[in-house]
Amino acid sequence: MEAALQDREHDGYNRPMQVKRAPKVYPVIVVGSGASGGMAAWNLTRQGVNVLMLDAGTKFDRSKFWTHVRPWEARERRAHGEQPPQFFLDTKEQPYLTPENRPFELIRVWGHGGKTNVWGRVSLRYSDLDFKGPTADGWEIPWPIEYKDVAPYYDKVEQLIGVCGGDDDSDALPGSKVLMPPPGLRCGERLLKKAFESRDIPIVHGRRANRTLPLNGYPACHYCGNCGSGCDTGSFFCSADHLLPAALKTGKLEIRSNAVVGRILVDENGLARGVQYFDRATGKEQTALAKVVVMGASAVDTTRILLNSKSDKHPNGIGNGSDVIGRYLCEQLRVHVAGFLPQLYGNELQNDLGIGGEHIYMPRFTHRRENLGFLRGFQMQFWNSGCLPGNLPRIGNELEGFGADFKKDVKRKYPAWVELHPFGETLPYAHNRITVDDSKPDRYGLPMLSIDYQIGDNERKMADYIFDVLEDVGKAAGIEWVHFKRGELDNNGSAIHEHGCCRMGADPKRSALNKWNQMHEVKNVFVVDGSAFTSASEKNPTLTILSLSMRATDYLGDEIKKGNL
Ligand SMILES: Cc1cc2nc3c(=O)[nH]c(=O)nc-3n(C[C@H](O)[C@H](O)[C@H](O)COP(=O)(O)OP(=O)(O)OC[C@H]3O[C@@H](n4cnc5c(N)ncnc54)[C@H](O)[C@@H]3O)c2cc1C
Ligand code: SF4
Repeated sequence: MEAALQDREHDGYNRPMQVKRAPKVYPVIVVGSGASGGMAAWNLTRQGVNVLMLDAGTKFDRSKFWTHVRPWEARERRAHGEQPPQFFLDTKEQPYLTPENRPFELIRVWGHGGKTNVWGRVSLRYSDLDFKGPTADGWEIPWPIEYKDVAPYYDKVEQLIGVCGGDDDSDALPGSKVLMPPPGLRCGERLLKKAFESRDIPIVHGRRANRTLPLNGYPACHYCGNCGSGCDTGSFFCSADHLLPAALKTGKLEIRSNAVVGRILVDENGLARGVQYFDRATGKEQTALAKVVVMGASAVDTTRILLNSKSDKHPNGIGNGSDVIGRYLCEQLRVHVAGFLPQLYGNELQNDLGIGGEHIYMPRFTHRRENLGFLRGFQMQFWNSGCLPGNLPRIGNELEGFGADFKKDVKRKYPAWVELHPFGETLPYAHNRITVDDSKPDRYGLPMLSIDYQIGDNERKMADYIFDVLEDVGKAAGIEWVHFKRGELDNNGSAIHEHGCCRMGADPKRSALNKWNQMHEVKNVFVVDGSAFTSASEKNPTLTILSLSMRATDYLGDEIKKGNL
């Protein structure tokens, strides 16, 4: 597989001779360039470590996206057969399997920056309710770290990426002294805040990786509200804008694009010696060698690569003697309800665009209530409040009628639209699982990804309580519900927060990684994406992924300096 480079040189007798050159061995290979891989490369290169990054995609050319194309022009272009470029990976290119009655909505971005090109930017610190949750209630294994281990990294990461938010500080959501100022609240958000607080449920400023002040040469957000299509001015954190260019500037980073990693290769001792990858366009198989491999291909793709890395030394996948890799997949359950706040009917139309997404956030409060009958808790986010362009067709589709009266009705109710989105923690279950199917190869001949995921009783009870809270707060706010179906949950996977499958823990029999994201069984493999999480929490994970990746690669840099790796 490892074709040695062959150069023809002169042998001194005027005859060409072949010289075999040993293939280059990099100090570190990083797989993936999203939040976790981007951070790993950024942090290692600034410590002077040479890194080869392999990414399944390439740099997105935002000038080709249709962000600023007017609606009528977009219609014209489509009519002429044009399609806008897409961030999201097409399942036709990379299909995955699920059991017939258990669909899972997997969203992947293959390209520089990964999902941080389009993420919602909600950036929340885990608290000890999260890190110590499993110890407190005894469900599955404890995390090997706690808040104080990660807190200094949260400080560093928040300053590096730029996060705005308020000065709140609670046991559910630890405060931060390094946040940028938050944007003001929209009218609907103020009314929701009042209603929640009347039920003793605190509402705080949202925390998002939107830069409300200029940072590192990038301008502050200009409140166009269009973050879902990527930011042309680089005013929200995306690994491709804010980590990769800085890492490249050190001269220590080489990026190989369209390099789809299939397996980690091992030597006779079972240690990693590099990776096998495929050219995404041609399918050509290649090899890259390194002393250390850092996996940051996102929870699902990293797990697939680890499980596909079978060898005599690792018959169950690399580092998987414990058989935990692939198990304990966690997502969050999500609910989505929407309606009108009648107090705002007929209000003057105004610009509610803001930083794209809600300006308020409801931290978990369930730990302050007794006898709820379920473990862990939920948070709530609020989308699309008020006069946003996308709300006009949304409201138009929901209301009945036609003609002038219908238009008047839509316009009157436009400022009053609100959406509430609770996200609940899902417990880690061994049966929620990623596997690979040897009988179904993908286009590169790699065993296909298979996902089997379902929520359990704990989550169903939590969801029931979530609907109680929504009904109660809806009454307090006077919401006229337009979309509210008790018991209806969003599809599994739609929170786009996959965690677990290669969890960290103190016990090598029950976990795959130690507290430094390093494999128990293979000391030169580190896993720095969400697959390393021991449990999910109700929070969006990326700030914690970034912080743990920085922490792990601080440790890795030290180990390299000491000559241990
Ligand atoms: C619409 C949307 C909204 C979101 N909102 C939020 C939010 O508000 N807050 C939050 O915390 N999180 C949010 N997320 C989730 C967040 O984007 C992810 O948690 C985060 O990007 C994960 O980082 P990662 O490095 O693990 O994976 P990714 O960012 O997905 O990066 C994975 C990288 O690995 C590469 N890769 C994959 N497979 C291979 C392979 N076989 N070989 C080589 N390279 C490979 C990909 O090209 C990509 O560069 C959202 C996601 C989406 C899509
Ligand atoms: S709202 Fe701000 S961060 Fe989002 S796309 Fe517009 S300028 Fe960029």
